[in-house]
Amino acid sequence: MRSAILDRFVQKVAQIVQTDGAACFSLGVADNRLHPQAVMSRRDGITRDSLGHVDVDSKDEFAAAVRNALSQRGPVVLTEPTAIDEITVDPPLLVMPIVWEREPLESEEEPVQRTVGVLTLWGKRGGQYDEDDYKLAETLSSQAAALLVEEQLDEFDDIQAAFSTVPVGLMLVAPNDEILVANAAAMKVIGTDPLQGLDIQAVDYGNQLTELVDEARNGGEGSATASYVSRNNENYSASAQLTQEGQIIVAFTQSPFSTAAEELTGQVAHELRTPLTVIQGNLQTIDAMIEGGIHPEDREIIEEFIGTALIQSARMFRLIAETLNISRIHAGKELELEVEEFDLVEALNQILEELADYLMGHELDVQVPEELVIEGDRGKIVSIFDNFLKNAAKYSDTGTTITVRIYDYDDENVAIEVTDEGIGIPPDALDKIGREAGFRTDISKKQAGGIGLGMVYTRRVTEAHGGRMEIESEVGKGSTFRAIIPRRQED
Ligand code: ADP
Repeated sequence: MRSAILDRFVQKVAQIVQTDGAACFSLGVADNRLHPQAVMSRRDGITRDSLGHVDVDSKDEFAAAVRNALSQRGPVVLTEPTAIDEITVDPPLLVMPIVWEREPLESEEEPVQRTVGVLTLWGKRGGQYDEDDYKLAETLSSQAAALLVEEQLDEFDDIQAAFSTVPVGLMLVAPNDEILVANAAAMKVIGTDPLQGLDIQAVDYGNQLTELVDEARNGGEGSATASYVSRNNENYSASAQLTQEGQIIVAFTQSPFSTAAEELTGQVAHELRTPLTVIQGNLQTIDAMIEGGIHPEDREIIEEFIGTALIQSARMFRLIAETLNISRIHAGKELELEVEEFDLVEALNQILEELADYLMGHELDVQVPEELVIEGDRGKIVSIFDNFLKNAAKYSDTGTTITVRIYDYDDENVAIEVTDEGIGIPPDALDKIGREAGFRTDISKKQAGGIGLGMVYTRRVTEAHGGRMEIESEVGKGSTFRAIIPRRQED
């Protein structure tokens, strides 16, 4: 998802500095190699997949230029055709280190500077890079730094997601089902003290533990998660992980209900970071362009950058409102609607612009009438589109088609519908989506991160309008999410 933003980013760089191609590499700390993250090439058809990894220590000229650029933390230009891995690109070639800078957190601390990658441009029209180009490339590479670091953070988030709820209990189970060790919290969850030396069957409540351990051992994945209800009726989430020695680590975490607030904060920070990166990056670029003296041909790019920044700031406001509303729902309050008359098609166009980066990797099939005016809370209905579309992209592979439809459902209602060709939803899970806060299907957990609140919000918004939500799905084929909403709202 994020690399779609990087793709767009390198396109922009090539457009602004006017080169035939641009590539953004991340620098591997462990292997000292450049890994292509996004590549744009106007003429020679070079793609991310055709560019290999570049060993910074190797003997070729490109690697030497990279070493130079890294050591002087500044631009290096090569004026001959140059081979990047096995592909030769046109001169002049510019190599610019991507340096990530973070303000000090404490006053006496130094700012943190870390080289996280390299930006390369080639085939400059007009034949030479000038001071303005260097300055632009430098500003742009600091934007790329934010994106690359964010990408790393994303990976980190995924890893952390598994640990985001504090494990309250841990135990180690031997291949013969004997509990080898357990901490105090695990004894409390299970309600037996001590646990050590006992078989899991002897202490199990129902068959919960036995089934969980069995799935981790024999289910093929080497891990399993399930909810666990304790003898005194507390909800936990239990996960089991098979070790190389054939033992099973069982971890109990508090159920998403009690930690929803924590997870929500994490998710919000995560969601807001993307539009904010775009806004900040665009403003910095405009700033650098202005400093270099505005050329008439820059005007269009500047306008576009301002346009995107405005769209993304509107998005931030909506995401914040959505978050506040979710915590209201969580606190048991009713949603309040601010009803107005608006055009659904125009609302859809707004969200398609906001989500341009998310949806870039998918084929989009938009089937809408010229106009479809309804009464409703525009912002909240935009959130329905937002959640449907984001999920469709998240839970399906890039390259597949997402279909969006808006139509007259019957005399009273209109329908908002998003269909994907993604992982699908098992039949027994259909009823839980949007009804149980925190519910996520097992297949979706493997595909992407999430916290299972977006659909709860979507369903509530739909019902607050007097409508209903429908889901049709087939595992491995795809899903259709539909919100059916009355055209008119009573006072
Ligand atoms: P999140 O995606 O943050 O987990 P949502 O409330 O948006 O939360 O969705 C709840 C769950 O419904 C998801 O975790 C996933 O299991 C399932 N789901 C939602 N949309 C789709 C989809 N388009 N395809 C497959 N599963 C989906």
